[in-house]
Amino acid sequence: MSNVTVADYQGIEVSTWCPGCGDFPILKCIKEALVQLGLAPHQVIMTSGIGCGSKLPHYMRVNAYDSVHGRALPVAMGLKLANHDLTVISITGDGDGYGIGGNHFIHTCRRNPDIVHIAQNNQVYGLTKGQYSPTSDLGYITTTSPEGSIEVAINPIALAMATGATFVSRASSGDPKHMTQVIAKAIQHKGYALVDVLQPCVTFNKKNTYAWYKERVYKLDDEKGYDPHDPKAAWVKAQEWGTRIPIGVIYQEVGRLTYEEQVTVLKQGPLVKQGFNGRIKDDSELLKEEFV
Ligand code: SF4
Ligand code: MG
Repeated sequence: MSNVTVADYQGIEVSTWCPGCGDFPILKCIKEALVQLGLAPHQVIMTSGIGCGSKLPHYMRVNAYDSVHGRALPVAMGLKLANHDLTVISITGDGDGYGIGGNHFIHTCRRNPDIVHIAQNNQVYGLTKGQYSPTSDLGYITTTSPEGSIEVAINPIALAMATGATFVSRASSGDPKHMTQVIAKAIQHKGYALVDVLQPCVTFNKKNTYAWYKERVYKLDDEKGYDPHDPKAAWVKAQEWGTRIPIGVIYQEVGRLTYEEQVTVLKQGPLVKQGFNGRIKDDSELLKEEFV
């Protein structure tokens, strides 16, 4: 029985997010999911990139690595390889994770490290004051697309499936209770798990608001007979956007080996517990090689 509580994850930094930002429910849900699973802060590490949402680990009491723009996923994978005993959660925005980090996104999907990727998808660049992003709808008007975006939006759900992700889900900041359940399932999944969160930017995105999503979002749990383990059915749901937007676990493949399970040296335990195994005498030799 775990004694971990949400208070254990309470950070000391004061948030700079705008009042009403869809990032607040995400922060709350991550903490609640970790507590539900009995995970203590020392068992968890988070990585982030650059963006409003990437400040999220600053507002938690947890191990964290704030990387550069678009690089949260490769850093998360590196951490997992160094210590696969840790629960690794990577936080990106839509611009950060699907645009600047788009290449890392597709290769992380196909490599299947056991990490969770939470993408705060507000369909806009929030931190830099409202430019159109890779997930902005066609025709979306911003300062950088005054006549409406002429670029087709990335569909992160379909892209994740097409590039080999083993857990693909969507949640909504408008339904925190459901989001906590989805994040908990993502953490429990063995392999790469995407949680794409519909996260309203109340300051710069006046189109994709809480009300806009509420009109369209429905839960896959309520769809009679829907099975996320059926790739054909999942592929159909992955295309849905517009009048109906599904949330929940859209696709899950069980049983595929993770990346780290296939690396021979990691079968002897996490690297951080293996010592130097005779490869070098001690870490002072490393310093000599590199810097002297
Ligand atoms: Fe949230 Fe948008 Fe404000 Fe950034 S600019 S904190 S995404 S509401
Ligand atoms: Mg964004």
